[in-house]
This record gives sequence, structure tokens and C-alpha cells, in this order.
Amino acid sequence: MAIQVFKPKYRVDEVLEEIKECLEIGWTGLGYKTERFEQAWNQYTGFKNSHFVASNTVGLQIAIKVLKDANKWKNGDEIITTPLTFVSSNHAVLYNNLQPVFADVDDQLCLDPKSVEARITKKTKAVMFVGLGGNIGQYKAIKELCDKYDLKLILDAAHMAGTKVVNQYHGTIITTDHAGLDADVSVFSFQSVKNLPTADGGMVCFKNKDYDALARKLSWLGIDKDTFNRTNSKGSYKWDYDVIDVGFKAHGNSIMASMGLVALKYLDEDNARRREICEIYNKEFFSLESDNLITPIFHNPECISSRHIYQIRVANRDQVMEFLNANDIFPGVHYKDNTQYEMYSYAQGSCPNAAQISKEVISLPLHMYLTNEDIQKVIDVVKKAVKW
Ligand SMILES: *Cc1c(COP(=O)(O)O)cnc(C)c1O
Repeated sequence: MAIQVFKPKYRVDEVLEEIKECLEIGWTGLGYKTERFEQAWNQYTGFKNSHFVASNTVGLQIAIKVLKDANKWKNGDEIITTPLTFVSSNHAVLYNNLQPVFADVDDQLCLDPKSVEARITKKTKAVMFVGLGGNIGQYKAIKELCDKYDLKLILDAAHMAGTKVVNQYHGTIITTDHAGLDADVSVFSFQSVKNLPTADGGMVCFKNKDYDALARKLSWLGIDKDTFNRTNSKGSYKWDYDVIDVGFKAHGNSIMASMGLVALKYLDEDNARRREICEIYNKEFFSLESDNLITPIFHNPECISSRHIYQIRVANRDQVMEFLNANDIFPGVHYKDNTQYEMYSYAQGSCPNAAQISKEVISLPLHMYLTNEDIQKVIDVVKKAVKW
């Protein structure tokens, strides 16, 4: 049987039970399970303002709009971002008529603080950090840069559901925090192949409560019910509301939230299995490092990574991909350097490390249905393939 890079695992009976409740009471839309999911997510992560939306992409779009409007950024102001991401991160900047400025990545495939600092101009308003594969990379140093230069920090946490940051005091692990609590906004994805899979969904987690309130209005067409509820609390005015902006139809619904509520219960368990699989891969590939054929991408040990993705670098990547495919193994690539897309080609050549990595990187199969035999097969075929 073919071994795919991703395969979501749904707890079918439990999901159907949650959805059945929605159908029976006749409530599948905004509210009900979306509120429960937001509360459950707050409780699990420690975020205070989680807002469930239709996708990470639209969540980022709205998050940036809120930051832009509230802080009076102008069209053409800049957000420093990474070329090694899914295009959503960068499209979200452009949707808002802001300019994505690409900084280079480090060997963990996350933004390199030195490169970020070199790209800061008078127009820079924010940094978009992507925790690739669930890794925090040098997030901490980026956060310090943002504080130093008074920039907003936007975390594209599409891969980071369940990533914990380890707080170390005197070398003893005392506590962990969920990744992203200290960002201005963290945006998660619950798209169908992410490590907390629904069919589509995202969570926008603002630090600032007022920004969260704005985001909630924007995700429902700019409709502002609160003012009318306050001023006209009599029942007969319940239908009435104000509209404060050209918002979007982007809020989540109770069916997706039902899927999310179940998946959240299994998130830590699933992530632990992911880390276990990564350990098996690592043990094999790190011992080979001396022959320089395979370089596993390591995750910062200051985090307990969700391990959404397991990546290695190989010099003959395209050949290796072909060989794996011929053996019924279908890995992925995360990601093609975004500056190689026509859309972002203005920045081509500005991020040499990302360009090189983009030619070498492979994401090996990593999901809940992998057996240890599957993993061994992948390892054996990869080892053969690099010498092909
Ligand atoms: C999947 C992904 C997104 C987009 O998420 P959607 O929920 O599908 O919109 C954004 N950024 C990264 C890094 C992703 O992997």
C-alpha cells in the first residue's frame, strides 16, 4: 500500500456524535459548538481570546487588517516574512495592501533573526513568523527584535497546534507554555491535513482583547451586534444591528467545531506519537550524518514540537523523490521558496539559504496510520535513494 506524507486520523464515532447533536437541535452555524471549541482551545492553550474562523488563511487576513487599522499602518507599509511557507502567510499581507519583505531562514527553516534585523526599515510594521513543522526555531530572538524595534509579531502557527515552549530555570524544566502566547496574534490551521484536522478551520488568537472583538466583527461581514444589544436590549430589537466595516464571511461553523472539539482531545496523544516517529527517523538519519548525504532538520529543544512535519535535506532531492515514488512512498516538499513564484519574484535572489533549502528539502511520511514497518520501509528506501 502506498505510504502518503499525510493522512488525517478522525475519531469517526465521536465526531459523528458531536455533529449529530448539532443536527438534532438544528444549529450548525456560528455559536453553540463554535463557542465551545473556542473555550476548549482557550483552556488547552492558555490563550484568552481564541476566535474560530473558516481557515488560517482568512484568519491571517483578518488579523493583519485589525492590526493595520488599529495601528494606522499605511498601504505599502512592510511586513517581514519568510519565503519558506505556504503562500497563505504572504498572500495575507498582500490582501491588506501591505508589502511582504522576505528575510532568509536559518538551518531550522525558520526566520533568521540576523536577516530579519537587516531588513527593518522605517516602513516595517510587523514580522510574520512561521513555526515550520511545529518548531519554534529562533522565535525568541525574533520576539526580542520585535520588542526592540516596536514591531508587531504575527505567528503563522498553522503547524503549531500543541507545540509547547519549555521554561527552564536553573536547568530544571519547571513549566511549559503553549507556543505563541506572547505574540501579538497567533493563527492556527485545522485544515484537513494539519495535525489537528477538521475539514477546514482556523483559530485567531489575539493578545489584545479589543483586537479580538474587532476580528469577530470582521469575520461576520462587519456586523456589530454588541452596540444594539447594549442600547436596545428589548427583545423586539434582537434582529437589529449596525455594520461598521466591509467585513468577510469567514467565521467558523458548528460542524467544523464539532470535528475540532474531538480532535483537540487527542492532540497531545497524537503529537506524542508524531514525536516518537520523528525519533525513529532521527536515530537512523543522525547516525548517517558523517556521510553528508542526509541532513535531518532539527527542532529547537526549547520546545516540545507538535512535529506536524518531519524534514530532511538531501542533495539529489528530485531523484530521491522519484525513487521514493517508484517505491510507493509519496513524500512532500515544504516549501518551494516563495520568491520563485511569479507573484513574489521581485524578491528572487534575496534569500539564498531558503533558495538552497528549497531545492533539497523533503517531508517524509508522518501520520497516525504509519506502522513501525512503514517507517522502516521509508528509512530503507531513503537510504538507498540518496546513493542512487
Ligand atoms: C496550511 C497552511 C496555511 C493555510 O491554512 P488554511 O487553514 O488551509 O488556510 C498557512 N500557513 C501554513 C504554514 C500552512 O501550512
